Amino acid sequence: MNPDTIVAPATPPGRGGVSLIRLSGPTSKHIAKKITGLNSLKNRRSQFTAIRGVDEIIDDVLVVFFKKPSSYTGEDVVEISCHGNPNIVDCIIELILEKGARLADPGEFTKRAFLNGKLDLIQAESVAALIASKSKAAASMNQRALAGKLSTKINNLRNSLIALLSRIEFELDISEHDTPDKNLPEILHKSLNDNILNTQQLLESFEEGKLYNSGARVVIFGAPNVGKSTLLNSLVRKDRAITSRTPGTTRDTIDADIVLDGIPVVLVDTAGVRQTKERVEGDGVRRSLDEIKKADLIIYVYCDNDSESYLVDYIIDKPHIVAFNKVDLSKNPIQANGVFSISALRGDGVDDIRKEIPKFLKNSINRASDDVLTTRRQVRAVSGSNKKITAALTLLKNTEPQLEIIALEIRDAIAELDDLLGKTTVDDVLGQMFSDFCIGK
Ligand code: GDP
Repeated sequence: MNPDTIVAPATPPGRGGVSLIRLSGPTSKHIAKKITGLNSLKNRRSQFTAIRGVDEIIDDVLVVFFKKPSSYTGEDVVEISCHGNPNIVDCIIELILEKGARLADPGEFTKRAFLNGKLDLIQAESVAALIASKSKAAASMNQRALAGKLSTKINNLRNSLIALLSRIEFELDISEHDTPDKNLPEILHKSLNDNILNTQQLLESFEEGKLYNSGARVVIFGAPNVGKSTLLNSLVRKDRAITSRTPGTTRDTIDADIVLDGIPVVLVDTAGVRQTKERVEGDGVRRSLDEIKKADLIIYVYCDNDSESYLVDYIIDKPHIVAFNKVDLSKNPIQANGVFSISALRGDGVDDIRKEIPKFLKNSINRASDDVLTTRRQVRAVSGSNKKITAALTLLKNTEPQLEIIALEIRDAIAELDDLLGKTTVDDVLGQMFSDFCIGK
């Protein structure tokens, strides 16, 4: 069935130098000619023209036509760059809708690119991840996946399983009078083992993908008045949290987003914890303890006159950094190993903590590979494949291995990878996946 022509703004709403409107589908070129009065649209050439409303010019624009299949979606595509004003964008889109296009659904351009074989499903997912990247490191990781590096790795894995399956099937097909391949068990053993290691390595890479894409939650914890808010302010270098001399002022948790050495970090300032009968602070304290449970890393802050030293018990078996604060007031500054002596107020030692946070977070994961899994869907498929390959290897170790059953497991392992690449993905999975995209992508 011929798809309809879709249109959407490709740039975010708002004012700016330029806004881009994108059309894709069989009538894109025809519509673009109608609204601009251009007699011909040249392939991949930028053409300056005006778009006319009923009786006046809406805007001067640049139009570029991409002839199918050499376009993002694989269909005829027209991109219109107009001045960056939402009213102009609305008027142009209105005009295009009048000429028979319809508004694109979220992610529909990328979905069409996938359906037309321009991208596999891993690459399509990486488009969304690239747009959502919160740091340069995350963007370059997602760019690698969009360029097809992760897909190549998965395809290599798939090809090696297919080669293995063919050998088994050949062996099953030969007649009883032919001599069986004596080397086959050893070859199978080695190849299955290699593939188990490769899938495991990919699964381990998810932690790194998650760290760079979703980021980490770093919770500042300690007694009231030890300088937690001051430390948060100093770490983000701007006044995000309130600081006060009255213990218990940070009643609720306060978050700040920063990027440290490529890792997006949410810094959470918690209410100071101490035994209290006051209800509001009591709630704040409970929330602080909840935050500790969710934290990827805790910065435990204390100082000379801190009487709540029992709080250490809450963090001792969790990932943590210890900071001895107000060193500027201290007569006996702590020199203990692993304790950061800082003055959050003056900024002394705060840079050391700023460096330690990403170092700590990176040390807590294995650097498995340059190509990382970034979505739960990817993890599910690779893990499914890993289980099937492991099952095949276990069957191979039986005293009388049944090649037919081993072949079934390998076939299932391949099917998981086919799903992952989108070779056999069912419609509702696609619907769910692309609905998370933004409009115009
Ligand atoms: P929180 O309750 O732990 O968040 O503590 P605040 O950050 O609100 O700080 C409590 C008080 O201690 C404020 O008056 C801060 O200015 C002060 N303070 C925080 N850090 C330092 C420091 O390093 N040196 C000194 N002298 N005062 C500090």
